Amino acid sequence: MIESRLHDEVLQIRMSRYEDFPAGTWVNAFLVDGLLVDTGAAHTAEELKSFLGDKYLNQAVNTHSHEDHVAANRFLQDTYRIEIYAHPLAVDKIAGPVTLYPYQEDVWGYPVPSKVKPLGNYIATEHYSFDVIPTPGHERDHVCLFEKKNGWLFTGDLYVTTAPVVCRPNDDMPQTIKDLKKIRGLNPHTIFPAPTHVVTSPCEKLDKLISYLEALEERIDRLYRRGMGEAEIKQEIFPEDSIITEATQQQFSSLNMIKSFLKKYERQDKEKR
Ligand SMILES: [Zn+2]
Repeated sequence: MIESRLHDEVLQIRMSRYEDFPAGTWVNAFLVDGLLVDTGAAHTAEELKSFLGDKYLNQAVNTHSHEDHVAANRFLQDTYRIEIYAHPLAVDKIAGPVTLYPYQEDVWGYPVPSKVKPLGNYIATEHYSFDVIPTPGHERDHVCLFEKKNGWLFTGDLYVTTAPVVCRPNDDMPQTIKDLKKIRGLNPHTIFPAPTHVVTSPCEKLDKLISYLEALEERIDRLYRRGMGEAEIKQEIFPEDSIITEATQQQFSSLNMIKSFLKKYERQDKEKR
């Protein structure tokens, strides 16, 4: 299923395998001045290819290597002969096979591997230039794209909600706080996230999210210094498991959030030894 909506000159292309777009099962791609930002999941790849048939499409960027951002690459390359770019660390991952959780296979599907080119510091279209902003907290190969003149910021999976309670084992939450501060410093006029709705005047929401995560980190640090372990801290701060945890076969969990904030102590302990 595809729904589209224009925001300024940016076309939001919302895609889901399911007709009623249930929460957590849809993802956005964006088309602006011939540049496609992300190519969505495998289950919607053919549909995206057809949808773009009467649009001006010249090139694409993958914000990162995850399966719900790259899966139409090959279809678009074969049909429209476009170049696709991603962070240098993403190139090999996108070209190789991946292993998915069963829920990911259901919701997104397995992407066909594709060959993409490494991104430089910016990407130019006919009328605009987009700065590439490395934001490695969500994934080491994650980038945002920023168009200064209009204040358009494409945030991939960096922004989802103002108060997240779960994350994946690979998320680096302290780095995510740094990434959020970096994009907040750009004073974006509009953010275009992949996993949720477009946000105009997003600075208040970004401030709220940064404060929330900093307060969470402080609380976790305090409990850790009192001698509590990760499981106890999780029980204290997030006594109830989010429904997302069961739905994602434990890939997204509050325990992962705690562990990510506690990683710095592992590193410090190693350095002391
Ligand atoms: Zn992702």
